[in-house]
Amino acid sequence: MSGTRNDWSREEITEIYNMPLMELIYKAATVHRQYHETGEVQVCTLLSIKTGGCSEDCGYCPQAARYHTDVEAHKLLDKETVVGNAMKAKEAGSTRFCMGAAWREVRDNKDFDRVIEMVQEVNQLGLEVCCTLGMLTEEQAQKLKDAGLYAYNHNLDTSEEYYKEIISTRKYEDRLDTLAHVRKANISVCSGGIIGMGESQVDRIGMLHTLSTLPEHPESVPVNALVPVEGTPLEDQPRVSVWEMIRMIATARIIMPKAMVRLSAGRTAMSTEEQALCFMAGANSIFAGEKLLTTPNPDFEEDRKMFELLGLKPRAAFKGKEVEEPASSYKPAYS
Ligand code: SF4
Repeated sequence: MSGTRNDWSREEITEIYNMPLMELIYKAATVHRQYHETGEVQVCTLLSIKTGGCSEDCGYCPQAARYHTDVEAHKLLDKETVVGNAMKAKEAGSTRFCMGAAWREVRDNKDFDRVIEMVQEVNQLGLEVCCTLGMLTEEQAQKLKDAGLYAYNHNLDTSEEYYKEIISTRKYEDRLDTLAHVRKANISVCSGGIIGMGESQVDRIGMLHTLSTLPEHPESVPVNALVPVEGTPLEDQPRVSVWEMIRMIATARIIMPKAMVRLSAGRTAMSTEEQALCFMAGANSIFAGEKLLTTPNPDFEEDRKMFELLGLKPRAAFKGKEVEEPASSYKPAYS
């Protein structure tokens, strides 16, 4: 097993990305088997704990307040609802529970205090707790870590060059700064992007280059296919083909071999056969449950049947990392 590399050049990644497809899948599958148990897939559940009304202008997102979409905004959910959802996700076989809030950034207020309590309680359930809450300071990242947060999702979305075409309300460096704060707090990093937003192949490779040349690779790399939503600036984007997804997944697998590569948004438009090819190409993580924040996703039962058919098994929680003690001293401040 060769060590991981953080010095990939764009040319090398381009060469991998453009390999003949069957060769690419074979190479990615080989790397996958060197670093991961075959047939093991991480099952994560994502819950929107605060929906809509976001001040940012991400062109793909129906939660931006400035776009007129069918998303029903709601304030931060109460802790009991969130913990109840986490319990259901665990019963259905998820090992990671990710809580997403449509915030530009985390603010030090009562809402953040409530999220901290949610993290503490979900951690107590023995689930890997993940959050995606927007930009974070170093102190906030540490606070989340102390509460038992296992992973933080903050996607780069696309290449640095194409970023301004998709989002104008923040910069690429802001994303990278938050990732650095998460890493510094010793929280597992989850960062990937979306394809199908009108970007070129060069942009896709650019994003993979940035991720794979970070001082440490993200532990999770979600690869999303844009789900165009009416009312957003990207509503008319054509759907990406499965072959493009496979190229992204396989390239990510080869250049970041230890990462969990997540086949994320866009699965509802894929057949079981297409998803099987993505798993062959090195995807080993999915989101389960009917919804991904606001867009549809296959339900648990559909995925259970697919796992059975393909001989896949869910990956245990905290695998590959020492189990961290749940924050057992935690006492709820209020409920
Ligand atoms: S992706 Fe996140 S930051 Fe961007 S508009 Fe949607 S909720 Fe806001």
